[in-house]
Order: sequence, then structure tokens, then C-alpha cells
Amino acid sequence: AIVPARPEPRPGVLTIDAYVPGKSAAAGVEKVYKLSSNETPLGPSPHAIAAAQAAAEQIAYYPDGAATRLRNAIAAKYGLDANRIVCGAGSDELLSLITHAYIGPGDEGLYSEHGFLVYRIAILAAGGTPVVAPEKNLTTDVDALLARVTERTKVVFLANPNNPTGTYIPFDEVKRLHAGLPPHVLLVLDAAYAEYVRRNDYASGLELVATSENVVMTRTFSKIYGLAGLRLGWAYMPTHVADALNRIRGPFNVGSIALEAGIAALADDAHVAAAVAHNEEWLPWLTREIEKLGLTVTPSVGNFLLVHFPEDEKRGARAADAFLSARGLILRGVTAYGLPNALRLTVGTAEANRLVVEALADFLRGSD
Ligand code: PMP
Repeated sequence: AIVPARPEPRPGVLTIDAYVPGKSAAAGVEKVYKLSSNETPLGPSPHAIAAAQAAAEQIAYYPDGAATRLRNAIAAKYGLDANRIVCGAGSDELLSLITHAYIGPGDEGLYSEHGFLVYRIAILAAGGTPVVAPEKNLTTDVDALLARVTERTKVVFLANPNNPTGTYIPFDEVKRLHAGLPPHVLLVLDAAYAEYVRRNDYASGLELVATSENVVMTRTFSKIYGLAGLRLGWAYMPTHVADALNRIRGPFNVGSIALEAGIAALADDAHVAAAVAHNEEWLPWLTREIEKLGLTVTPSVGNFLLVHFPEDEKRGARAADAFLSARGLILRGVTAYGLPNALRLTVGTAEANRLVVEALADFLRGSD
């Protein structure tokens, strides 16, 4: 056998395109509006900040590795069984743990064409094969997913609502997807934006998890709770899945500051309600105002919008991105999602939202 001259990663690792996060700064601009990572413009609850500060006094000690108090608080809030909850360093870690527990070389992980990129990275990192189902109107197509299930399929990932499209499928469709899957396939419902959705036919699907042996739901404190910097997420799952994840996760995978802030954030319903109300006001406003400028906006139920630009070098998404960032308005390019002519815009403060619309109008008009 040929012995390499230096340590080599497992086959496939170097074929992964690393996740490139949304930008956070623009060169030479005084005031920056970060509208690139779907964070809340309201920030975290003041109670969460106070809890984080108090917890900072104790960082010489390991955190509670079982996240018992946080799991109990989540269980009480949603009426769940705390033994079926696993917490993680963001839902990203939970998605990765799930993938590593259920997918290995020769196995397939299935997701939708414009599905969240972390699924692909996690599947490849686990040595598995990503399988992609086409979408209709930038929306998950349940039949297309079901048509691609094979004996090798181990996990199906569904972001509902999805990032970066902002689209969702009704709960009836989620149930149809679940009903069409063989029992050995794990269905992962990624509900990172669930709190924002205001649609009668939507449900995050916690009840489906509670009554199934092959459904997991991931949730996050990064979006509506405004704790993205702390890295905190949780997932609800059957006991046998929790058992598998608890065997492979790091023994102290969530830090003590995140645990305490999460408990405090969860108790502040008024703060969450304010974030929802802000979004309900500004998501439609942004959609309307941007459409008035002649751009196409994908109807979104999240706290962000996908804005489509003409296929024109001077008025295209890349030019718009540069124009906006020169004004300190940082949006998210989504070329990695196969959407080179679109930018994703997070709903920001009233000020930021107005500035974006003004900047887009100037951009399309061709002024500086
Ligand atoms: N799922 C979806 C659909 C997301 O958009 C994000 C955030 N980009 C995540 C999961 C991961 O969020 P976090 O790791 O911060 O919980």
C-alpha cells in the first residue's frame, strides 16, 4: 500500500465545500446593518442577557452535561417528555449528530433542491451520499422526495419553512411525506423558523414526533430568541433516537452560559411576541415595497425574503450585493444554493428595512 507523506482526511472530506456564513461587515462603512443571517433585529430578551452575565461568574466549572434544567423547561413549555429532548450547540450540531448516527458510507441522505446547505455537508462528512429532489416554485415537492427514496435512504431532511427560500409546506403535506416513508427512514423536521409562521395550515409537527418512531424535530435559540452567538438548539425525538445521540455527542456539548440564557429566554413570552409582531409588520411591508420596484420576491413565511434580480450584469444580484454593502447593508448571496440571481434579506429594524428599499430603488435607477 502507498503510505501518504502526511495525515490524509478520510476519502471525500476534501470534496466538501465548507459552509460560508453570511458576511458581517463592509469595508469602509461606518454603520453596518447585518441582514445576512436571519438574526432578530430585536436581539435577545434582557432576562437572557442577565442570565448569561450571571452564568459567566461560574465558567470555571463544567456545565450540566445532560442539560437537565433546560430540557425540563422546554418540556414544560411545550408539553413534551424531557427524556426525548437532546440539546446541542445550535441546531447545526444536532443535525450533524443525527446524520453521523444514522448515515455512513453507502447510505443516502435525501433533501430538497434548495434545502439548507448543512444537510449536504453533514451527509458528506459522515461518508454518505447526498440525494437531491427537485422543487416546484422553490417549494419542497413531497412526491419528488418520495420518488427518490431507496433502500439505502437513511435520513430525509425537511426544513419547514426552508432557508433560503422562505417557503413552507402545509402540515398535511408533511404527514403525507411521513406516511410515504418506509419505517427505517428517519424524517428530520428542521423547524428553525417555526415561531415566525402565521398560517393556519402550518404546524411545526411536534405532535408527529410524539406519535412516531422515525421523526425528529430540530429547533433553535438562534432565530426568534436572538441567541445565535451562544450556539444553542434542541431536538425532540423518539427515545431510541435520543439514546443513540446521547452516546455519540460530546459529554458537555452545550456551555453553561448558553444553558442559563436559554432557560431565561424561554420564559420571556412577551419578547417572543414582540419579535413575531415586528416580523408580521415588516415582512409584508418589505415584500410589497420591493415588488413595487419591479423585483420578484418569493412569498416567505420566515423572517427573511428571497429577492430575485434580472439576469443582467449591471442590475443583477452580484451588482446589487456590492451596491448595498457599500451602504452598509449586508445581504446574503445564495449562489451556493443554486440561486445566483437572488439575494436573501433578513427582516431588520424599521430603519434598516427602509434603507434597504431606498438603496434598491437607487440601485435599479442606476444612481450612486
Ligand atoms: N436550520 C435552518 C433551516 C437554518 O436556517 C439554520 C440557520 N442558518 C439552522 C438550521 C442552524 O441554526 P443554528 O445552528 O444556529 O441553530
